[in-house]
Amino acid sequence: MPESDPIVGIDLGTTNSLVAYADPARGLSPCILPDAEGRPLLPSVVRYSAEGRTESIGHDAREHAADFPQRTIASIKRLMGRSRRDAAADLPYLSYEVIEGPNATARVRLPGGHVLSPQEVSAAILSALRERASRALGCKVRRAVITVPAYFDDAQRQATRDAARIAGLEAVRIVNEPTAAALAYGIGLTTKKPETVAVFDLGGGTFDLSILSVIPAEGADADFFQVLSTAGDTHLGGDDIDQMLVQHLLPTEQAHAPSMTASELQNLRAQAERAKIILSDHDSTEIAFIQGGAERRRTITREQLESFLSSWIDRAIDCCRRALRDAKLAPTDISKVIMVGGSTRIPLVRRRVGEFFGTMPYTALDPDQVVALGAAVQASIMAGLRGDALLLDVIPLSLGIETVGGAVAKIIVRNTTVPARATEMFSTSVDGQTSIKLHVLQGEREMASDCRSLGVFHLRGIPPMPAGIPQLQVEFLIDASGVLTVSAIERRSGKRADLQVVPNHGLTAEEVDRMERDSLTHAREDMTRHRIVDLIANSRLDVKWIRDRLDKLGDAIPPDYAAQLRSRLDALAALIAAAERDWTTVDPNAFHAAKESLDRESVRLHEISIAESLRRGPAGSSPPG
Ligand code: ADP
Ligand code: MG
Repeated sequence: MPESDPIVGIDLGTTNSLVAYADPARGLSPCILPDAEGRPLLPSVVRYSAEGRTESIGHDAREHAADFPQRTIASIKRLMGRSRRDAAADLPYLSYEVIEGPNATARVRLPGGHVLSPQEVSAAILSALRERASRALGCKVRRAVITVPAYFDDAQRQATRDAARIAGLEAVRIVNEPTAAALAYGIGLTTKKPETVAVFDLGGGTFDLSILSVIPAEGADADFFQVLSTAGDTHLGGDDIDQMLVQHLLPTEQAHAPSMTASELQNLRAQAERAKIILSDHDSTEIAFIQGGAERRRTITREQLESFLSSWIDRAIDCCRRALRDAKLAPTDISKVIMVGGSTRIPLVRRRVGEFFGTMPYTALDPDQVVALGAAVQASIMAGLRGDALLLDVIPLSLGIETVGGAVAKIIVRNTTVPARATEMFSTSVDGQTSIKLHVLQGEREMASDCRSLGVFHLRGIPPMPAGIPQLQVEFLIDASGVLTVSAIERRSGKRADLQVVPNHGLTAEEVDRMERDSLTHAREDMTRHRIVDLIANSRLDVKWIRDRLDKLGDAIPPDYAAQLRSRLDALAALIAAAERDWTTVDPNAFHAAKESLDRESVRLHEISIAESLRRGPAGSSPPG
């Protein structure tokens, strides 16, 4: 038993949550800390009174969910760190009311009118786990490593941290679930030669595939454990099967029967899940449910179930392909495949995954528990109880900032390992300007309007200086948990710029998926647009500078040359104007050629300009840099 202040590992799941502990220094291998009745899983379900008092958490809340559908809160993880609009696709699956709270966030409204944030509901689950850990370990538990799906974005990770804080826990590290799973198998702890591992995590609500590269320590005291790529879908899981089964059972029934009450429907869903689980071990089973007060029975076979599942598994396999593509690997490059999540108990899933990777997947550890066990291993590393592993994860989408004309400059590209740090220099464009607005974006597209806005940072307190003189060094830091912070310093004055953050909501996985798909479909169009936007910005500067010179130098320029220059100027100015009206009407190659020819033509102007300024003395100005 730990002496004091242990760090536990928590799998805060959509469907089920668990807490585990490991103390290798005392020979205690990772184990799940069960409840007083010895049950390892805590269903992620909380029932509230209409006034918002916590009535029941876990098994009891789940068992009686059908009786209190509007105040029994399940699958709260789907709302964490998201706006109500982001979560719209999930709402039909939820039995309770979801409203829009401050800053468009999703909130739960109980029948009595009491409103809860998803963080508070998750905190209730975390508190229950903390209490169970305290009881099992015989001491106060204040710190935890908490796992999240690899697809969780910044807002969702922050929300998870906040939930922990509400529950009286410090989240010392947020770890991706598949990464934890690999650790549970000791991969990265005892590896002798470099290898590449895939973690296939199919739970109740989400699917993740991660490809990990494990490089054993040579002389160093830490193995190198790197996530090469991740792909996933937060709308792929066992819940979908339950829903498919319900859909399968309903249409024929509904033709003659009264429509079902909310509680009957929830009961049917529970029966569908039970049948699905039985079919993982049996060839057929019977589903009994109540419809309009009358009992109904239907038999369902494994073969029938598998016929629904085929396209559902295809989606998971597609994600596997995508992750492999991102990591530039073939299925045969993967030496081990780890199965995680209750839905990987389905024989068809195991078969298909085995076929795809051409290797028998690892199923020795309980797929429900493997993430929590791995979180406990990570916790023991954090606690300094073992010094033999170091974990690195990746960011799922590129981070960038909006530049002139609405293009995006990527600052940290997708699949970069965290922690990651990038710095960019900025300056002002107007004399005496004391603030700069930075628009931070996430996504793969070239234009800001096609990416997800993460927030606007106002750098204030820049000492007034001529345009272009301040040197603002902006640092983007993604910590080991994948959380972004931005800081800035003005290098000439040494002054730290104040950062005022106007955060937006997190990304949905659908958006991540869509953005990724779009980036492939629109790649060419985007490139063209980005090029034209850059051409407009650069040409404008050229045109302005040359016009200024022509006006200023006047007679010093031979008339023939001035005329020639003006005609090139007009041609480029016309292209700029056309591109600004509608970029699709302009051929970027022609645009580029026009700019080049003006640039070439103006070399002489530069020479004249320099000669003139030497002749006239030091007051002459130089071209923009
Ligand atoms: P999450 O990570 O989303 O909390 P879990 O890993 O706990 O989810 O998996 C829960 C899902 O696994 C549920 O949809 C449950 O019905 C399903 N499940 C559990 N056991 C089995 C089984 N033997 N066969 C098929 N599905 C199962
Ligand atoms: Mg899980």
